[in-house]
Amino acid sequence: QKRIKIKKLLISNEVGSEVNVKGWVRTKRGNKQINFIALNDGSTINNLQIVVDVPNFNEDLLKKISTGAAISVVGEVIASQGSGQSVEISATKIEVLGVADPEKYPLQPKKHSLEFLREKAHLRFRTSTFSAVFRIRHAMAFAVHEFFNKKGFFYMHTPLITGSDAEGAGEMFRVSTLDAKNPPLNEDGSINYKEDFFGKETNLTVSGQLEGELGAMALGEIYTFGPTFRAENSNTTRHLAEFWMIEPEMAFYDITDNMDLAEEFLKYMIKYALDNCMEDLEFLSKRLKEEEKGKKADEQSMELIEKLKFVLENDFVRLTYTEAIDILRNSQPNKKKKFQYLIDGWGADLQSEHERYLVEKKFMKPVILIDYPKEIKSFYMKQNEDGKTVAAMDILFPGIGEIIGGSQREEDLDKLVTRMKEMGIPAEDMDWYLDTRRFGTATHSGFGLGFERMMLFVTGMGNIRDVIPFPRTPKNAEF
Ligand code: ATP
Ligand code: MG
Ligand code: MG
Ligand code: MG
Repeated sequence: QKRIKIKKLLISNEVGSEVNVKGWVRTKRGNKQINFIALNDGSTINNLQIVVDVPNFNEDLLKKISTGAAISVVGEVIASQGSGQSVEISATKIEVLGVADPEKYPLQPKKHSLEFLREKAHLRFRTSTFSAVFRIRHAMAFAVHEFFNKKGFFYMHTPLITGSDAEGAGEMFRVSTLDAKNPPLNEDGSINYKEDFFGKETNLTVSGQLEGELGAMALGEIYTFGPTFRAENSNTTRHLAEFWMIEPEMAFYDITDNMDLAEEFLKYMIKYALDNCMEDLEFLSKRLKEEEKGKKADEQSMELIEKLKFVLENDFVRLTYTEAIDILRNSQPNKKKKFQYLIDGWGADLQSEHERYLVEKKFMKPVILIDYPKEIKSFYMKQNEDGKTVAAMDILFPGIGEIIGGSQREEDLDKLVTRMKEMGIPAEDMDWYLDTRRFGTATHSGFGLGFERMMLFVTGMGNIRDVIPFPRTPKNAEF
């Protein structure tokens, strides 16, 4: 008997045929005559009901079937009596593949908190919530490749170990084979990296952008999609030490082309989820509603699927940093206060409370902010004519804040090198990058989407630890 996956079985609906299913027991209930087993094999959010005519089976065998056990069932597909699924299985043969001692198995058939499940990270995939999240994660990753492939972009792999410290925000993880306790030293007491594996200081990448630019300035349009590492030393619900970033980079795109592509891309991903993950989204939506039950009406967020459709169907708001500051200065976020520190100064970076105000209160839509003060942005962004701002672009999403950061890149060699010197970035070590401006420079742009931030938005989950299979955060890398 060939095994069939539960997802396919529930769709194909072949009443009368004999099938084999394998999976993990979610619940078992019943009496001395009849047992009902809810079986899940991970292929779908839906459990398959197995009907067991108790007198036909060995008592010891049935005892071994408890929540968490792996079993194989051969039986006949029958029309379902109750509501829910269209079909169920009337078991003729059951084999217990692996028991799960009910005294010890951590996932009992009650609702567990997400915090509890984070501590049982190795088992949380077995829950409906996390299996839904990770099926959606797969679909979203696939959508990324489909979107760019259709557009003729080339998928480029950029290195994870880098010898440059260009982003230089002090968030790099050092990669070294030197003896950490007793490294070779220079005469001035500093570590002698000439003796290290690569003969220089190396780090895990914080972004593939600079390498991506080299690709774009030859292949035209490329994207990266890989792991990114940042030693973020604070614990937030939006930051991981290891996350996945999608970074398209395009020759001959200016900042407007960049905004257009980013908006089209985000909408494509949302549409892909709605078209391909509806059952999982409906489950997560229901879960979210239950979670929000106790909250006041104005603190409740929009229903998940409605929210996704809303973002899909509406243009993003586009405005400059300066316009945003003016709006914020004249806003009264609540009775007590104004956005105090913004009142005195143009030039400060927006805090997340400002971003959230713009997106969630003022416009109620995703917002694309451009033309930030150059002092708060990276060296490689194109300097605008006003001498004060750069062609940066941040996209802010409701409930998330920054989901994309990008820019048009500075294409003028002199301006770029001058800016690097001002910011203390060693231009002399970066000929490999500057050569793109020396030889055949051209307008080009790109952006970075944090894959897990997108996952937060699409799944409605509240904590970034819950949308990546194995979260890496400060003091947390158990396995
Ligand atoms: P933030 O302001 O949220 O710290 P950032 O401006 O430092 O983000 P960028 O350097 O612009 O981040 O990176 C591009 C995108 O990568 C961000 O817009 C965000 O979606 C994502 N991202 C950045 N840092 C993290 C992180 N530590 N964990 C998860 N995603 C991240
Ligand atoms: Mg950051
Ligand atoms: Mg930022
Ligand atoms: Mg950013």
